Amino acid sequence: MRSLVVDVPPQDRTPSVDRLARSLAGIDLPQPLLVDAARAAIAAGDPDSAPDQAQRIRRRLLAPVINGTGVLLHTNLGRAPLAWTQSAHYSNLELDLTTGERGDRQAGAPALLARACGAEAAVVVNNCAAAVMLVLAALAEGRDAVVSRGELVEIGGGFRMPDVMAWSGARLVEVGTTNRTRRTDFAAAVADPGNDVAVVVQVHQSNFRVVGYTEAPRTAELADLGPPLVADIGSGLLDSRCPWLDGGPPPWLDREPAARQTLEAGAALVTFSGDKLLGGPQAGIIAGRADLVEACRRHRLARALRPGSLVLAALQHIALAYLGADGEDIDFWRMAALTPDQLRGRLGLYDGLREVTTAATPGGGTLPGVEIESVGVAVTGDHTSRLRSLPRPIIARVIDGATIVDLRTVHPDDDAEVAAALHQVAGPVR
Ligand SMILES: *Cc1c(COP(=O)(O)O)cnc(C)c1O
Repeated sequence: MRSLVVDVPPQDRTPSVDRLARSLAGIDLPQPLLVDAARAAIAAGDPDSAPDQAQRIRRRLLAPVINGTGVLLHTNLGRAPLAWTQSAHYSNLELDLTTGERGDRQAGAPALLARACGAEAAVVVNNCAAAVMLVLAALAEGRDAVVSRGELVEIGGGFRMPDVMAWSGARLVEVGTTNRTRRTDFAAAVADPGNDVAVVVQVHQSNFRVVGYTEAPRTAELADLGPPLVADIGSGLLDSRCPWLDGGPPPWLDREPAARQTLEAGAALVTFSGDKLLGGPQAGIIAGRADLVEACRRHRLARALRPGSLVLAALQHIALAYLGADGEDIDFWRMAALTPDQLRGRLGLYDGLREVTTAATPGGGTLPGVEIESVGVAVTGDHTSRLRSLPRPIIARVIDGATIVDLRTVHPDDDAEVAAALHQVAGPVR
């Protein structure tokens, strides 16, 4: 086995390594990892550092953290929070309980999501990058896909639109300019006898804004060019009217494109992430015209991109909450919709700590520049490292020399724990 910590040949398991590893027995890690820690400490010339090395390995394990950053969809913290556990039972993942015959895993959550956004059908894959790739492979392999030069974006983590299009086997036909593209640019590319246009692609500029002398066609203007219009909306807002929120859409949603309205405007397919504004698990959803969704499902790549039952079960839970218009049951929306007064109502638990007004953000590469008025508590000085090293790590921000925990992204059940931790790092003087 390759060491997790240092490159030492595995046969280097001297008696001293074994002895040191045995001295770490109180640390809750399997024996081979304690050996790694011991070996790393010896390699560093500091055997006494073995417990620290073991703790470093422990801290790399996936574990719950408390998000005090105010970034609702924090990419480093797994984007949307979602409570989901699975029992050890089998599930009817691919069994039709009515007929007893082989069933279809895409008949559950994907169909519910299609219902929730007014699409004829939907198929779910591992993330939105995979969704875009599958759509292009299924509809435009060896043919042309037309896209605006203003939308050949990089979403993050190396997801570059031109690359994804190339992997799919579609040929990219760029039209317009960085700041201005018109319907006529698309129409000319479609009409060009030198092109074989299979799809027109619209990509939402999720994580940046082009301001000033700009122009881009609306979805409706690209819907009747002939080839199907595929709109990568990214964020996963299902319906711009937010019927799952008592107060309707929050003002900060602004002009974020929504699946239902993009389909109503004439897009043949939309693609979006499961773990952004949808508030679900990591997934990519392709929704829209039944024949095109079917082509995606039948494509040979679909098998390699399909999600497992854990993801489908969590998505089903979210989809049912949307269909029941129950935003309280979707953690992301419950936190996003809290008013500053509701947040202030929790300050009693933070007695003795300084209240601050904060600016929370949607995050996750959505809604750039959007701030959501929020409430936090502050402690003078930078205590972020100590807060991160707690048994349940608290991730905080430092602003103007003070450590700030934004209450919007903290689960109310964690308030007492966070308050105690802040009092502890603050000490008697704050
Ligand atoms: C976020 C985003 C993606 C990538 O989504 P993942 O689910 O992270 O793969 C693709 N397109 C757009 C427009 C996005 O906003």
